[in-house]
Amino acid sequence: MSGTSPLFDNIVNLSKRRGIVFPSAEIYGGFRSTYDYGPIGVLMLRNVKDAWWRSMVQLRQDVVGLDASILSPPQVWEASGHLKNFSDPLIDCKNCGSRHREDKLDDPNTCPTCGTKGQFTEARQFNLMFETQAGPVKDSGSVAYLRPETAQGMFINFANVLNTSRKKPPFGIAQIGKSFRNEITPGNFVFRTREFEQMEMEFFVPPEEAEKWYEYWCNERFNWYIEHGMNKENLKLRAHDSDELSHYSSGTSDVEYKFPWGWDELEGIANRGDFDLTQHANSSGNKLEYFDQATGIRYTPHVIEPAAGATRTMMAFLMDAYCEEDVDGDSRTVLKLHHRIAPYKVAVLPLSKKPELSEPAQKVYEMISARWMTDYDETQAIGKRYRRQDEIGTPFCVTVDFDTLEDSAVTVRDRDSMTQDRVSIDQVVNWLNDRLD
Ligand code: ATP
Repeated sequence: MSGTSPLFDNIVNLSKRRGIVFPSAEIYGGFRSTYDYGPIGVLMLRNVKDAWWRSMVQLRQDVVGLDASILSPPQVWEASGHLKNFSDPLIDCKNCGSRHREDKLDDPNTCPTCGTKGQFTEARQFNLMFETQAGPVKDSGSVAYLRPETAQGMFINFANVLNTSRKKPPFGIAQIGKSFRNEITPGNFVFRTREFEQMEMEFFVPPEEAEKWYEYWCNERFNWYIEHGMNKENLKLRAHDSDELSHYSSGTSDVEYKFPWGWDELEGIANRGDFDLTQHANSSGNKLEYFDQATGIRYTPHVIEPAAGATRTMMAFLMDAYCEEDVDGDSRTVLKLHHRIAPYKVAVLPLSKKPELSEPAQKVYEMISARWMTDYDETQAIGKRYRRQDEIGTPFCVTVDFDTLEDSAVTVRDRDSMTQDRVSIDQVVNWLNDRLD
């Protein structure tokens, strides 16, 4: 599914104009399937990942983190089933030669490139793994793969984590990192790219508790998007039909977002049974089990996996927060982002560039930036500067004006209500702290 809309075009333009996302290798004509995150985008993407990590690791005693390697040997991917099954159905249009993913066509009979009907080749399975060579000798023994998901890192480190972390089921291992898929049809901006970032957690549970934890994680993950400011009416939790399920999964639900081209996946939550640990135990010859000393029972934990995309989620946050508003006959573009997701939390704006204001403003900047990501802007009229901050979603603007020299106070302007409060400089960090938890 693809297509543009005014909202989609606005997000792509804003991203380019404000340094959120750039097409990669643009000076060489672009690479289409990968993107670079600019000075504002890198902050926002980091905030998406930090917000996930905060909820999934920092605030929980039953989840620990991991940062596993991107490159791994074929055995991992043989055992996981990716070398055999991680493929999408590829078809060619016999008229124009364009290639498509059969299961993602709006109309299964019509070429989206040239519009010709009924001229597709038979579908063949196209494996999405990126293969490379590790080491100086190029032979079959040096084949390695870039991971297409972060999840396998958690499975193959299950015993390492169990033996070193004092955790026992139910417990989880969480990871954020890059994944690579040779997608047949990358597109819709950063929605589907060949290099992207994932935020995944494998939650290991006693088999009889799997269903309960599956329900629990579906709810937790759905609510995470709402807690971070997404509009509820743009989100839904969709349970997969039985014919959509992987053979090992007894339940999968997707958190879907209402993108301009229709409902599409942000995250999948799957009840994976003991498939992954059993596969790796059989292939490696290592036991991947838990021995419960209290009951004397040894078992292979079942796994509940919430798997989200960081880059895709960031795009959904951008779309969801984008507003154009009329303010006293003037229009303003504003990103109404949750403060945890907003690239900058605060901007410090001296009313004039004169040293008598810029010096105290620099001091205010130093105080605030020690705590939060803060922008400093002294160019152009104050109204323009407010608009610039609105456009990138900065929740608070702190203005240092000539009265500051008299009352040692600043004006703090709220992005959404545009109300202004006078706050004394020695209280401004506390004032912001109450609003930027
Ligand atoms: P699809 O069916 O759309 O190809 P998938 O169901 O194979 O996706 P998963 O393997 O469940 O995706 O991956 C988990 C998450 O990783 C997805 O929900 C998505 O947010 C993200 N993701 C997967 N592929 C891509 C990609 N090519 N570009 C950006 N994000 C991706």
